[in-house]
Amino acid sequence: AICLIFSQNIIRLFQLKPPHRLDRLLRACVPLIIMLAIGRAILLYTLVEDYHHANNDHLTLASTQFLVFFMSLFILTLLYGGTYQDILTRLHEERSTDPLTGLLNRRAIYEYLHYIQQNSVSEHAAILCDIDYFKKINDVYGHLAGDLALKHVSQLLSDKLRHHDRISRLGGEEFLIILENTSQRTAVNIAERLRKLIETTPFVYQGTTIQITVSFGVSTFKSNEDFKPILQLCDVLLYQAKKFGRNKVESELYT
Ligand code: GH3
Ligand code: MG
Ligand code: MG
Repeated sequence: AICLIFSQNIIRLFQLKPPHRLDRLLRACVPLIIMLAIGRAILLYTLVEDYHHANNDHLTLASTQFLVFFMSLFILTLLYGGTYQDILTRLHEERSTDPLTGLLNRRAIYEYLHYIQQNSVSEHAAILCDIDYFKKINDVYGHLAGDLALKHVSQLLSDKLRHHDRISRLGGEEFLIILENTSQRTAVNIAERLRKLIETTPFVYQGTTIQITVSFGVSTFKSNEDFKPILQLCDVLLYQAKKFGRNKVESELYT
């Protein structure tokens, strides 16, 4: 019965990627309990063959039965624990992810900013970016084209940045990138590379290539500094980039 129950789910359990700690424990326990059940079945079979011996060996029977019972309870607990953990992980992801682009949302990036403010000591960069004339894409090609353009830009940003850089969609067509332990000059170089990449990567919608460009405002802040004025500064710099013709990177380096 145990083998039958597990045969339904065992393949899925071993395919889980990446499994959390409870899943790993479950993976180790399932073969154990199957071996225990088979071992006990063999034992029972040999004991039944020798009936008199079986009568005298209650302790072996009881202890193996207890072991199987204990293991089953343990596995049940692991199963419930694993499910609970999965639900928590999914809730956390939904709470912190922008559903359209899959990037972090405003809440998550602000939480991250609070975190690095309290837990590190160096200089970090904030890059605020906004798609140029995005309303026109919506107006000319429709809202779906606008949504796909947002995904296109998000994908380019995610592909180009490093694994530990944080990218968020603040709302609409505005993105905030946080680069930990990064100087102003490096951040400006990175923003410039992103700008060129977006400018030169064609976005094709229903056979039509739509030119997309993005403007950037770049600033840096120290861990012990309040990040809100820095985001306001990024906003001012972004506004300047728009004013100076769009498709530009503006930072304090050049002001
Ligand atoms: P600028 O170059 O000055 O940034 O001009 P803009 O047209 O990009 O900026 P504006 O703020 O005038 O327009 C932003 C538009 O983005 C308006 C809004 O309808 C659209 N928008 C906001 N969120 C979404 C979304 O999730 N999907 C789509 N398709 N459009 C969105
Ligand atoms: Mg815009
Ligand atoms: Mg905007």
